[in-house]
Amino acid sequence: METPLGELPRISPERLHGLHRLGLNTVMDLLRHFPRRYDDQRERVTLSELVTGTPATVEVTVAELHPRRARYRRMELLEAEVHDDSATAEVIWFNQPYLRHILHQGDRITLHGKAVRTRRGGIKLQNPEMEREQRGVAQSKVGVLVPTYPETARVTSRWLRARIAELLPLAGGAAETLPRFVRQPQGLMPLGAALQQMHFPEDHDQLDQAKLRFGFEELFFPQLAALLARRQRLSKVGTRSPYDVALAREFVAALPFRLTEAQRRAAHEILIDLDRPAPMNRLLQGDVGSGKTVVAAMAARMAIAAGHQVVLMAPTEILARQHQETMRELLSPFGIWPRLLVGSTRVAQRREILGGLAAGADKLVVGTHSLIEDEVRLPQLGLCIVDEQHRFGVAQRLRLRDKSESNPDFLSMTATPIPRSLSLTLYGDLDVSQIRELPPNRHPVKTLVVEPSGREDAYDFIRSEIKRGRQGFIICPLIEDSPGLEVRSATAEYERLSQEVLPELRLVLLHGRLAAREKAERMAAFARHEFDLLVATSVIEVGVDVPNATVIGIEGADRFGLAQLHQFRGRVGRGEYESHCLLFADEEDPAARRRLQALIDHQDGFELAEVDLRLRGSGDPYGLVQHGFPEMRVGDLLDDGLRERARSAAELVLASDPNLRDRTLRTGIRGYQVVFEFD
Ligand code: ADP
Ligand code: MG
Repeated sequence: METPLGELPRISPERLHGLHRLGLNTVMDLLRHFPRRYDDQRERVTLSELVTGTPATVEVTVAELHPRRARYRRMELLEAEVHDDSATAEVIWFNQPYLRHILHQGDRITLHGKAVRTRRGGIKLQNPEMEREQRGVAQSKVGVLVPTYPETARVTSRWLRARIAELLPLAGGAAETLPRFVRQPQGLMPLGAALQQMHFPEDHDQLDQAKLRFGFEELFFPQLAALLARRQRLSKVGTRSPYDVALAREFVAALPFRLTEAQRRAAHEILIDLDRPAPMNRLLQGDVGSGKTVVAAMAARMAIAAGHQVVLMAPTEILARQHQETMRELLSPFGIWPRLLVGSTRVAQRREILGGLAAGADKLVVGTHSLIEDEVRLPQLGLCIVDEQHRFGVAQRLRLRDKSESNPDFLSMTATPIPRSLSLTLYGDLDVSQIRELPPNRHPVKTLVVEPSGREDAYDFIRSEIKRGRQGFIICPLIEDSPGLEVRSATAEYERLSQEVLPELRLVLLHGRLAAREKAERMAAFARHEFDLLVATSVIEVGVDVPNATVIGIEGADRFGLAQLHQFRGRVGRGEYESHCLLFADEEDPAARRRLQALIDHQDGFELAEVDLRLRGSGDPYGLVQHGFPEMRVGDLLDDGLRERARSAAELVLASDPNLRDRTLRTGIRGYQVVFEFD
């Protein structure tokens, strides 16, 4: 099963290249390369029932064979006369010289193909697929449920069918990935049989059984890994920050606004967790602008009151600076002064900050990846807050944890709403708090598609908003795999807008190639209203808070995913003013239009996420692979029933084998080690 495909006989380098492009490297990979669909050729007709032009399956006997070579073109022909009880017919094959060697007079064969009328009124099958009847061997290629595979030019379904059929007899000896004690109570097929039925199903029922087995497996292992990670965490002793109700009240009373109900609930859940000895691992999920930061500040307040140090880590410098500012506003009244540690922090200052943190004198530090560098020492670290947590990996998280002398609590935040169906699998090791409510007096953002003919009107609209004292964003198109090109196109757009289209406005450009400090300065100047319009690449995607901005134009909107568009839209509508999101679309692609329409129809990020998942369909519906997940091929994340079955099976396993000593299961979860944290 582990043999590299290159070591199999009769595989050309081109073919091997094609196989690698499909992600297939070993025999097992090939056997797990499942068909995309099945062509049902099972119904038989007699020769007299053949209808010209309609594909059909017949079972016939070979009466005569005439190999020929076409005169003008160098082409091998094989003509045959075949019959069944109802009639005789002609068959012709082009360019399949090997057929001459395997077909004989008197052979019983199954043919599938289209018939034409001959000049003399007879019936002729042209280039039909053919399988010889062999005693004791089940029909597997023609006249059955015939598999069609995801293919490339070099690796066709026909080729895959033949090679997989050859290799399948080995499948019975393949190491079973789901032990019997998991499989049997669920009534799941063993691996060998399931592989056989996936490729060459006896009937639809067997096929469904095989799909069920693999679908189950794909949902079972991530949940097993998640539950194990969770179990291991809860058995550890971590830090405690007692829930001081008076302190919480005092914090809330000092805020310039009333917390929403959802914020209160989330804060309450977090404070209860902090009070427990086991290390917290909680995800705070809330739409853009739902006010997660203040909840995080409250948690920080509580942990610091208990004598712990707190870090707040963000994926970009702009965001880190903004968080430091917010934390200072919220916490300095209590004598807590957050430090900022980012890539551009100057050497002298950095040294001072590192000293303060190592001595435990500084209690709160906000920063970027710089925080996880070796020199940063945080002996009393008790709480780690990670914003936009999906931008960080498990390894980074572990490095942060290891700075502490104990097991610190983790609070992750994300503005990318994950549908519930997904979050159970994706974040199964986390406890989740959701903020599904925006602060009052927010207006929904009016969203519309701007057709090419409406461009001038759109610019007029932007002008009028700015004349009223508001600000806006222009997002430049995503250019995949080419940040360099993206920067150039954003620069060109900035020049076009500031010279030709909107010369009377104060424009500023922001893109990923600028130095971090420069980016932060331009952003801050924009926030101070020294500019009217910010032209940017997707770098402004996360977290920027400028309440005076009321309009965002997104160029090439059809190239962005829904989640990202929703994030962009969240940059406006953060203040008291009515806001607009203008989607500039260049193409009429119906799938892209459906996405844009969904954005118009839904303001709620969670609803949008569900819609997105459905629109994307199977494959890698939610960029799971990007999160480090193995690809889902058969499993359907939207199948709540199966997911529940897989989850309870995983729970059952851990109830009797809490440390997961079972070798097979350990192997099964290995692929999830980059996603979940377990020993
Ligand atoms: P996000 O969840 O996107 O991180 P923020 O924490 O940045 O959102 O909050 C967005 C804005 O809303 C901030 O300016 C914040 O001060 C404000 N805000 C937060 N909670 C409330 C509330 N309950 N009422 C009014 N404004 C609030
Ligand atoms: Mg935020």
